[in-house]
Amino acid sequence: MRKTRLVVLAGMLALSLAACSKPAAPQTAETVTEGTAAVQTEAQSGIPDGTYQGEGSGKGGKIVVEVTFADSKITEIKVLENAETPGFADAMDTMTEAMIAQNSIEVDGVSGATLTSTGFTQAVADAFSKTGATADQLAAVTAETVKDAREDSYSADVIIVGAGGAGLSAAISAAEGGAKVIVLEKMSMPGGNTLISGGEMAAPGNWLQKEEGIEDSKDQFYEDILKGGDNENDPELVRILADNALPAAEWLRDDVGVTFEDYELFFGGHSVKRSLVPLNASGVELIDKLTKKAESLGVEIHTSTPAKELVQTDGKVTDVKAEYEGQEITYHADRGVILATGGFGSNLEMRKKYNADMDEKILSTNSVGSTGDGIDMAEKLGAQVVDMQYIQTYPTCDPETGALLYVGDVRLDGRAILVNLEGKRFVEELERRDVISMAVTEQTGGVSYMFWDEDSMKASKVNETHKNEYEQLLASGNLVKADTVEEAAAHFGIDAVELQKTIDQYNEYCEKGKDEAFNKRGDLIAFTDGPYYILKTTPAIHHTMGGLKINTDAQVLDESGNVISGLYAAGEVTGDIHGTNRLGSDAIADITVFGRIAGKNAAENK
Ligand code: ADP
Repeated sequence: MRKTRLVVLAGMLALSLAACSKPAAPQTAETVTEGTAAVQTEAQSGIPDGTYQGEGSGKGGKIVVEVTFADSKITEIKVLENAETPGFADAMDTMTEAMIAQNSIEVDGVSGATLTSTGFTQAVADAFSKTGATADQLAAVTAETVKDAREDSYSADVIIVGAGGAGLSAAISAAEGGAKVIVLEKMSMPGGNTLISGGEMAAPGNWLQKEEGIEDSKDQFYEDILKGGDNENDPELVRILADNALPAAEWLRDDVGVTFEDYELFFGGHSVKRSLVPLNASGVELIDKLTKKAESLGVEIHTSTPAKELVQTDGKVTDVKAEYEGQEITYHADRGVILATGGFGSNLEMRKKYNADMDEKILSTNSVGSTGDGIDMAEKLGAQVVDMQYIQTYPTCDPETGALLYVGDVRLDGRAILVNLEGKRFVEELERRDVISMAVTEQTGGVSYMFWDEDSMKASKVNETHKNEYEQLLASGNLVKADTVEEAAAHFGIDAVELQKTIDQYNEYCEKGKDEAFNKRGDLIAFTDGPYYILKTTPAIHHTMGGLKINTDAQVLDESGNVISGLYAAGEVTGDIHGTNRLGSDAIADITVFGRIAGKNAAENK
């Protein structure tokens, strides 16, 4: 999940208030009736003190809240009833904190938990409407509401920009290296794209592979990364990634306390199954544990604080100029500054500048925070940027929202095929993301249909692991479950006769143990009885492979290949590691490996 400014919320809130609230009668000390509200001192702007209930509709169903107003401020929000799953329920806690802190109902929602965020806002807006006050009255008070008191300047050994997986890994390593660390995060909570990802991490030679008897090696992983990126990658950086992925996974498990599931996934383009899966197949587990670990080491995370500019003193990057609620703040770094601002998938202009095909027609899976700020800031100091034209789409996303559909992970379990409207397979289902995306784009309507059966559902359990998404997809109609292939196909207008032929043919390949049509890797398991499932998907922007050129010490290089003193970078903000195309689950390996390197080196003032 990730934070985003849910524009839709603002509109929804306005509507909800317009619909529900009666115009507030001008209140004076005399007009306030006993028992309904405390005496109002500010006649026109006051919101009656009291506790009010409101209802909204979340992802899991009804959300009922109780909101307390005192002195025209929201002082407490209690969730009385909800059926959201734990990860999503956390979104309500986050929003409660923000609503109280900002004295506003119109706060950032938690994207990835859009429905929960919307339902929760709806419920609070409903409660607010019962005060009889208007949104303007709340806003008037909000304008005066105290924000976190911030100094105009701070000093630390290491300043990190961006609190996603790379920034937090760097923060922990720097703090473990004895540095005082401050992390700046522009959104109101840490997480970035890492939070909303599935959090899977490629780690060759890992403990589950050993249990399963899967042979793998650093060298094999190295080869896969290079091949997956069409050898456009910097082999030295790939070597570092391949050699350090397993130690990084062990570090996450043993030092940071990340819980990994007891199964792996087979991501497209890898030669073997090697990807570890964090608890609930969600980046929430990573960010939760990384944040806790960082805070336990005394790392300060300053949220809602976008970095705007890097400042050099005598050729060394020493300061970061940032903003908090309109206040300019200078963060001084005694030892080093680390850029961990993620990619630029949410920056339409930047996307189009480097790759005209990645225009507004393509949806995105990205956090709204992924706007390439770190690249911009470093470029102003002469930093070298590489591979900017390589922008990856994830092949199987929601056709309406662009959200990455985790129910589709049944494919990564090797248990689904992709067909087109004509009922035919058109690509190897475990191919690289760019290859599948390109193939999907060429199909009727630019969509693909993922097909699987009940055995596959039971084996992959995506309906349990991603229960909310599963139910929501069924409700939206983008997923169908039907007793017969014909019925399932009819839901989308897919050619059922052809689809049945495709399934029969695929089953023959399974019997032979060889997919003669597309050479699908991994185990081939025939489809059997219904119910059958079909999921409609389309590609959406997912990862930007390009970015800042770093060396193997995570130091940022200038146009001539020289180190920019005091400046480090890690994670999606960097380029040249994945070449033309990043393989699935390599990002978490990348951000952890290079985050740790950047943190360690910045702490050592290397
Ligand atoms: P990575 O996977 O490389 O860690 P993420 O997308 O997970 O990338 O995290 C990047 C983080 O950086 C996000 O939380 C994003 O909001 C944050 N960020 C982006 N630009 C800025 C900025 N200018 N100032 C502070 N934080 C930023």
